[in-house]
Amino acid sequence: MTSLSFYGGVGKIGGNKILLEDKGTRILLDFGMNFEEQASYFTEFMPPRKFSSIKDLIALGMLPDLKGIYRRDYCKHNGLNYSERNSVDGVLISHAHLDHLGYVHFLRRDIPVHVSPESKAIMSLFDTVGGGAYNDFCKFNPSFIFIPKKRSDGVKRRTARDGLEERVVNDFSFNKPFKIGNLEVTPYRVDHSLPGAAGFVINTSIGNVIYTGDLRFHGRHKDWSDYFVEKAAESEPVCMLSEGTRIKDSSARTEGYVEKQSTKLIKDKKGVVIANFPIRDTDRLLTFYKTAVSNNRSLVIESRQALLLDLLRLEGVTELPASDDEFIKIFFPRKGWGLIGRTGVPEEQVARDYKSWEKEYLNQSNVVTAGDISKNQGKYVVFMNYFQLNNLLDIQPVPGSVHIRSICEPFSEEMELDEKRINNWLRKFNLYPQNKIHASGHASGNHLFKMVESINPKLLIPIHTEFPELYKEVHKKVKLVNEGKKYQL
Ligand SMILES: [Zn+2]
Ligand SMILES: [Zn+2]
Repeated sequence: MTSLSFYGGVGKIGGNKILLEDKGTRILLDFGMNFEEQASYFTEFMPPRKFSSIKDLIALGMLPDLKGIYRRDYCKHNGLNYSERNSVDGVLISHAHLDHLGYVHFLRRDIPVHVSPESKAIMSLFDTVGGGAYNDFCKFNPSFIFIPKKRSDGVKRRTARDGLEERVVNDFSFNKPFKIGNLEVTPYRVDHSLPGAAGFVINTSIGNVIYTGDLRFHGRHKDWSDYFVEKAAESEPVCMLSEGTRIKDSSARTEGYVEKQSTKLIKDKKGVVIANFPIRDTDRLLTFYKTAVSNNRSLVIESRQALLLDLLRLEGVTELPASDDEFIKIFFPRKGWGLIGRTGVPEEQVARDYKSWEKEYLNQSNVVTAGDISKNQGKYVVFMNYFQLNNLLDIQPVPGSVHIRSICEPFSEEMELDEKRINNWLRKFNLYPQNKIHASGHASGNHLFKMVESINPKLLIPIHTEFPELYKEVHKKVKLVNEGKKYQL
């Protein structure tokens, strides 16, 4: 018997959690967080309660009610009788966006997580710098445990300082099949807005099942997605789980378009260029790097991005600039006491404003401060997202400065509010209006339809889309599935 059960990512964008069962082997395809769902109950000021998180999220329908998958420290503390033997053979992660990875935090650490080397680098970035709502992706911090005090009687709460454990994370090689239980999985590279994204051909006892993950055909590496489609078609699949984020959208602006337009826009500009793009989208980072270099400027990135470039380099990624490249600068904003850039302050006092991983970069010769940028505005393209706009108070952009918005449009009320705030900052500092130059991480409707026609699966199950029924226009056997239900293949 081969079956699929859906616990997220059905009829909505993101939060994929799919259980594939085949003759005694059980694997999860992604274990992500749906942002809209999360935001419909929680806010920054009322986050999930850590002491009861698994129980609460199951009660709210955000985590599946499955035994034998959740971490034992939480189960025990949450009073959940779920801690018997591990009940799945592995988790297959398509890529390291949080809507595919975010809830891995809640899984037992002995469930092997299979990821690409690049995804592993991003998981370890999350563990080091935070940024995901939940971490413990590679390292694992056992929680809610009392341990004896060292120097006196009594107990204390165990913390990360008492030692971290390791999650079982296996990195796969692209194009090379590997086994999880009875299943043979072949991962292929696909082009998406984050390094290391994969699509899978999964060989089951009844034939091949395709899982596309998220993908596009208009990025820097259309060839990767094309090759995946070719291999998926060759496998003559019995079933295909296909993303359909932009199924209604026909525009397919390319990464090349972003590079060309932004290069043209900043030519001859005298002031600073502020660019906002997804922080872990290294393809976009490369685009703005090229834009900067061809205009004789340097690209200024955050220390988090410098660390990401270094981690990816360790995993063998060579097409990206190194963190100490001559056209890369690392921005250290003023934080804490705000001592950076002040003269006469002891170095160790300046360093105290930053976290230990940040300090590693503080002495690198390409570090710049807001003062440095302010003095030489025509020399820089500065990455700056919404949360860093207060640095404009120190940079003081001169007339002739520009802002490039290279992220998606707001799609919720909350984002609209943020948008107003962003525009207030930009108006104040010679940066209004925003210049919108963006290319999506997801394939257009036309490309998705072409993909489905080429692969021609016996059965198509649309996921990661609000309009699954639209696939019926191009495929004769489309199954619309419901969350929480099990489907025999
Ligand atoms: Zn996604
Ligand atoms: Zn994605």
